[in-house]
Amino acid sequence: MTDELLTRLRCFHDDYFPQYAGQFKNMVDEGQHPTTLFVGCSDSRLVPYLLTGAGPGELFIVRNVGALIPPYSGIYGWHGTAAAIEYAVLTLKISRIVVCGHSHCGAMKALYEETPPEAKNLAAWLDLAREAALPVQLTPEALRRTEQRAVVLQLERLMDYPMVRERVETRQISLHGWHYVIEDGEVHVFDVKSGAFVPASLAEHSGTGPYREVEDDGGAIFNEVDSAWGQSDAPADAAS
Ligand SMILES: [Zn+2]
Repeated sequence: MTDELLTRLRCFHDDYFPQYAGQFKNMVDEGQHPTTLFVGCSDSRLVPYLLTGAGPGELFIVRNVGALIPPYSGIYGWHGTAAAIEYAVLTLKISRIVVCGHSHCGAMKALYEETPPEAKNLAAWLDLAREAALPVQLTPEALRRTEQRAVVLQLERLMDYPMVRERVETRQISLHGWHYVIEDGEVHVFDVKSGAFVPASLAEHSGTGPYREVEDDGGAIFNEVDSAWGQSDAPADAAS
């Protein structure tokens, strides 16, 4: 009987690895120096390397159900995503953080449905996105908006991490909110100025966090966007 996984492991070693052996050796000798922390949903259809064209050593990735960010304070312990954020910012000194949700997200859909009674961790985890759910019947449009609202909500929660906030405020780190539309093969990036997600093909930048840079008065470099996106009528997809 063929062991498909074993075949794939051998294929990687024999066919793929030789092209990158030198690159991997350098990254072992010199350590990793990724510039981007990518927080993405665990969904199998979201492939960060394909979306970004990144190769080995370029993305520090943490994935979980829904691409959710746990709160910084209050509970310390077995929080893999929080640990990854701290490591990426404090040790790796990454310069950008991407939060990437996507279309047809099962986690966002689950906000409108019952989860299995045994899935106690899942139910608790989804609490991190409940604020993004809309008080409406689940429709494709409502799901899309929920997915986008959840991305912005996570970016806001990232700003509660003191090491993130400090670096965003001093422009050492940029935040990027992305919503990947699987069927179109296009990422829509969050634009704080319009409060909308803009298809990458039409966007002028690769996404912003939920803050606004003040360019002309030399004052605070960001202002929290309080209600612009938090209500049920925003953010809308700029393309629709
Ligand atoms: Zn998902």
